[in-house]
Formats: sequence, structure tokens, C-alpha cells
Amino acid sequence: GEPSAVSVRITPMADGISVAEFQDISELHRVERVRRDFVANISHELKTPVGAMQILAEALKDASEDPDAAARFATRIQSESVRMNHLVTDLLELSRLQGAEKLPDPEPVEVDRIVAEAFDQTRISAEEKHIELKYTGVGGAEVLGSESQLVTAVKNLVGNAISYSPENTSVEVSTSVRSPTGHLAGVQMVCIAVRDQGIGIPAEELDRIFERFYRVDAARSRSTGGTGLGLAIVKHVAVNHGGRVEVSSMPEAGSVFTLMLPARSLPSDAMAPDSDAI
Ligand code: ADP
Repeated sequence: GEPSAVSVRITPMADGISVAEFQDISELHRVERVRRDFVANISHELKTPVGAMQILAEALKDASEDPDAAARFATRIQSESVRMNHLVTDLLELSRLQGAEKLPDPEPVEVDRIVAEAFDQTRISAEEKHIELKYTGVGGAEVLGSESQLVTAVKNLVGNAISYSPENTSVEVSTSVRSPTGHLAGVQMVCIAVRDQGIGIPAEELDRIFERFYRVDAARSRSTGGTGLGLAIVKHVAVNHGGRVEVSSMPEAGSVFTLMLPARSLPSDAMAPDSDAI
């Protein structure tokens, strides 16, 4: 860990007495460093597509005699701008989520709807890779929160499952209800598990992948259009909803990401009598 640091502020008082205030600043230092790293990361991530677009635009100017080359450059400019658009969209989403102390107007949201909507938004990329999207749900479970945030979170998980899987595999979402032990004991949780048959994640990387801009393989992430922010967004959505997100994975076999959210209401038969405590 960080060595603890203390700042001392001496305030001279009128009659020659000074008052010293002590404050532990190691946490302040840490927060400041994280912020600085984040800004440096954003700058780097934005410079990459902007730099590429600059070079491509130059090339496009010089290619007026060669329409085929010009069309190729234009297409690449377009895809770089799509990438930049994703990045800015994710950054805005993340900054909104981080700024929010609590959800503005929580509303009941059907879990089946969240998954259906997330599938709609990822279906095209799944079809491109001949990946089958499957869903088995408890049916009728509801959580309290923001539908758009929850859809974004599940869409990010399903999108990753597709990106990090080979062709002709399947991505399976299943929902279940559990009664956890520990500090959440007594709260029924709806678990939305997203399981893939993809490349998996090495055990030593598992606790870092939820950090902003952290990628196991940056080149692969960029080539699939990843911004490195998807899981940070998922984590914030989970926490803002009083829940959490967990992952288990096996390299070359696949991963399971589980989003756990406090249940608002459940169908009467949702709790399987033998469901495991977590
Ligand atoms: P990215 O935009 O790079 O996908 P994320 O924050 O969504 O960013 O994920 C962070 C990293 O975690 C990814 O770059 C990838 O290395 C790893 N990862 C996320 N989901 C999966 C998955 N389903 N299978 C394998 N690796 C994954």
C-alpha cells in the first residue's frame, strides 16, 4: 500500500498561539493520481483516432486521381470517427454515472425486458460472427432502477462476450434469484449471468478488468472497437443499483460475468428450494 502521508496546517492566532491541523493526505494523493492517470489515458485514447484521421485526410487529398484509393481512405476515416464517437459516448456515460450519488427516479424494470433490449442492440455483431444468443430466465422478476442504465450494463457484457469469442459459439444469458449471506443477507438478489465460450481471462487479470481503460490485450480490444470503459460502466451501474458484478473465467474456455441486483418483486415460484447461498 501507499505510505501514509500527513499534512499539517499551522494557523497563527492573534495572541501568538498557533493551531496545527493534521490531515491524512495519502487518500488525497491517491485520488489525485488516479484522476491524473485518467486524463492522460483519455488524451492518449483520443489522440490515436485523431492522428489517424489527420494522416488519412492528407492521403485522401493526394488521391484525387485514384478514386479507389480515395474511397478506401474515406472508409477508414469513417471507421476512426465511429471509434471516437464510441469513446466519447462511453466517457460521457461514465462521467454521468460517477457523478450520480443515487439514481434520479428509480422505476420498476422487468429483467426479461432488460435482456431482450440488450440482445436487440448486440444482435448484428452476434450474427456477423454466427454467435447464437440464448436466454433462460426466471421470468417476471423485477428490479428497481434505471432501465437505460441496466440495458447499457447488460449490453456491455453481451457485447464483450461476443467480441472475445470465436465464431460459431454461443452466448447465454440466464437469470436466477438468490439469497446471499453476509451483509446482503435477507435481500433477494436477481442474478443476470452472461456466459461465453470465448478466450477467457487469466486469473491474475481478473481484479483489474473493471478499471477504466484496463485491457488484457489492448490491440485486440481496439480491433474489436472496444473503448476499455465498458466494464467500468457495468460496475458503476451495479453499485448505483445497490448490487455488484462478479466474474469467473477460464482461459481458452470462457467467462461468466454476473450482475447481481436487489430484487423488487419476484414471481412466486422464482426461489428454487435448493438454490445456493452465495
Ligand atoms: P473493452 O472495450 O476493451 O472490451 P471493457 O472494459 O469492456 O473494455 O473490458 C476490459 C477488458 O476485459 C477487455 O479489454 C478484455 O481484455 C477483457 N474482457 C472483458 N470481457 C471479456 C470476455 N467476455 N472474455 C474475455 N475477456 C474479456
